[in-house]
Amino acid sequence: MQSRKEKGDIKPAAVGIHSLRTDLKYPLRMNFYDKPPTEDITIEEFETAALDRLRVLAEIESCFARNRTWEDTRKIMDEIFIKHLPLDHSTAKTKPIDEQRRKDHIGHFVLRFAFCRTEDLRRRFIKAEVMLFRLRYADEPATEQQAFMNSKDFDWQLATPEEMQGILQPMPSESQGRYYKLKWTRVPNLVERREVIMKGGMAYVHSAKQAEILYREFQTHLEKELEATAKALPRLDEDTRLVPILDNLSKGFQAGVASQWSDVEGSPDDTLTAEMIDEMAYKHFPACMRNLHMCLRRDGHLKHFGRLQYGLFLKVCGLSIEEALVFWRKAFRRPDITDDKFNKEYKYNFRHSYGLEGKRANYAAKSCQQIIMAGARSAGDSHGCPYIDFSMENLQSALLTMYGEYGLSSTDMPELMELVKKKHYHVACTRVFEITHSRQGVKKGEGVGAGESVTHPNQYAARSRELSQELKKKAEGETDVVMQ
Ligand code: SF4
Repeated sequence: MQSRKEKGDIKPAAVGIHSLRTDLKYPLRMNFYDKPPTEDITIEEFETAALDRLRVLAEIESCFARNRTWEDTRKIMDEIFIKHLPLDHSTAKTKPIDEQRRKDHIGHFVLRFAFCRTEDLRRRFIKAEVMLFRLRYADEPATEQQAFMNSKDFDWQLATPEEMQGILQPMPSESQGRYYKLKWTRVPNLVERREVIMKGGMAYVHSAKQAEILYREFQTHLEKELEATAKALPRLDEDTRLVPILDNLSKGFQAGVASQWSDVEGSPDDTLTAEMIDEMAYKHFPACMRNLHMCLRRDGHLKHFGRLQYGLFLKVCGLSIEEALVFWRKAFRRPDITDDKFNKEYKYNFRHSYGLEGKRANYAAKSCQQIIMAGARSAGDSHGCPYIDFSMENLQSALLTMYGEYGLSSTDMPELMELVKKKHYHVACTRVFEITHSRQGVKKGEGVGAGESVTHPNQYAARSRELSQELKKKAEGETDVVMQ
């Protein structure tokens, strides 16, 4: 008897079709991304869909970097999906399902452009996309899974009972499942894990592993598509609207994608004064800002990019321009910096970054991505991110100096240096946050909340201050109870 060719291992009419919503443009939640979106897309949609997807993929990368288990990854990513890329099941009648699926569709294709350019980017993008696909597929009800399988024309063949008779003794009954017969090169992951039966260059895969074949199929499809996109890309390079967006997107994997922190809205404390900065820096600032603060105190001065990085950060922490001028004037204590020199050479710049001079723009504080990707520093510069800019040796001793009294010790260094070696700088920073806030109840893997990684220095500082205020309130509450 000949092998049969089927779509999946269950016939279309049997399961799944009844769950399709005919009123939707995208009746299925899962997408194999084999057809690009063809309708008009605004530049804003193009960028938003890609950025939100990138936030999701960057968190998936962080999960890999932190060796999170499948269950932990699922738990953490569920929250991230809700926040950035919700994709409801077809049964959710009140949700904008088509809108969500369209955004998912557009985001995937935009990121293909951004990540097809180098082999390293392609590899990382595929790994994260396959995980996203797996997480979503695993979250599908069986009927939806089957409806998706049925919608695709996979050329998977089921081995006949006669074939299996020659391979398996005793023969499994129908209820014990059937076997797919595929060229072994189509399922190298299963071959490597010895989860198939090999014969004559063919791999016999139990139907229980159907999802694994699907994931591999998705990966192979994406690899081919990215190579094709890379070949088509030179034509796109002429588009001056899209290229800067794509360039920026491809940096997102290095340090996650931060939300914009451009003003003091949501700051835990809007009465920040110049006198409070010292204490805050030691208790709540991430290594980049802590380093700038230490250099400022040591040298009585900071060079231009250091002033810019630290000044905007402090602005977003809640320091008013009046207090900022007090802070910087006192901090610039080098003998040659007189009041006159300060007013002439520095005051304008500080007022400028508060939007009070020049273009009067409300400048955003720099994100981890902007700081990490800013490139090499010159001698005497103190801006940047210590996790990328310091040698391993200097980084370890700087971290111990900064955070030793908050619980960081030399036993944490191997784990941190491993992350740095693998270029997961913001993940190392997140781990430092967790360790130094364990007294406030932060556990390993929780990040700056709900498992999220650090993507912005102001996010780090705001969360740190929030935790300490929560702890203070709790302690006050307990005192009140004792007093009563
Ligand atoms: Fe600062 Fe971000 Fe580097 Fe942490 S990862 S030190 S917050 S730039």
